[in-house]
Amino acid sequence: LSQLFRPLDLLGMVYRTIRQGAIDMGAMFDLIDTPSEVVDAPGAPALLVSRGAVRFENVMFGYDAGMPILKGIDLDVPAGTTCAVVGPSGAGKSTLARLMYRFYDVSGGRITIDGQDIAKVTQPSLRAAIGIVPQDTVLFNDTIGYNIAYGRADADQRAIEQAARGAAIAGFIERQPDGYATRVGERGLKLSGGEKQRVAIARTLLKDPPILILDEATSALDSRTEAEIMETLEAIERGRTTIVIAHRLSTIVNADQIVVLEAGQVVERGTHAALLAQGGLYAEMWARQAQEEEALAVAVE
Ligand code: ATP
Repeated sequence: LSQLFRPLDLLGMVYRTIRQGAIDMGAMFDLIDTPSEVVDAPGAPALLVSRGAVRFENVMFGYDAGMPILKGIDLDVPAGTTCAVVGPSGAGKSTLARLMYRFYDVSGGRITIDGQDIAKVTQPSLRAAIGIVPQDTVLFNDTIGYNIAYGRADADQRAIEQAARGAAIAGFIERQPDGYATRVGERGLKLSGGEKQRVAIARTLLKDPPILILDEATSALDSRTEAEIMETLEAIERGRTTIVIAHRLSTIVNADQIVVLEAGQVVERGTHAALLAQGGLYAEMWARQAQEEEALAVAVE
């Protein structure tokens, strides 16, 4: 009888592996219901990244025909700089990130990396160049070491430990009785939101991509954890071209440029100080968040 069940077990394992892969991708960008239909052109070359400069040139996109979501976006993110994208809910911020990772192709204009149109290169080469730290990291029911090395089957233990140190989670892992072999997830150690995010950061450090997309969590971590995570994120942004999808403006005051998106269009752009001085939508959002934080602080007292 066990002979009979073995293939079924194997099938189950394959199914779970595929499903978990889908969950991981889906968790990054809520894509479970919208599988990628992007295909590479025959003979498409691999993306060659020299410095990692990202440009959006008059990018148009809609999920459904006749419902434009991005209406001509221009962005210029020089290599090694940080561009924060902010704006009201539904403005198209996450859509912008999804297009960069090419879950969808643009319907007008183009996105380039070091001058190469990302729609004309192979998807694996594009995705190898981009690291994503998602809003909410889904962990596999496996060891913490496996979760850090995920996607890098060749990573050795030393590299995994180095990434964990970079993400400031090595101490936590070493305090667990089984260290890096400690199981996490539903049937193992439960990690807090901040710890999960550190695993995602360690994963990204191990991947070492020239381009980063940070999708900031909407749900606030406690302020001490958030300050610690911010420090770690600043460390991994150094030397990489970074696009931050930001919900809390306090985290992006140091960005090289801030782009304010509203209903699929860039309505303001500049540094934090310049945008405040401009007294427009950004300044309004900043004042509102400051008020909310004050109200929250009073409520906590
Ligand atoms: P938030 O700050 O709330 O995360 P956002 O600025 O990231 O918002 P997007 O997620 O990019 O906004 O969504 C932009 C618009 O596209 C919204 O109107 C949304 O309803 C729509 N949209 C998002 N995903 C899909 C999808 N898979 N199919 C159809 N419409 C979608």
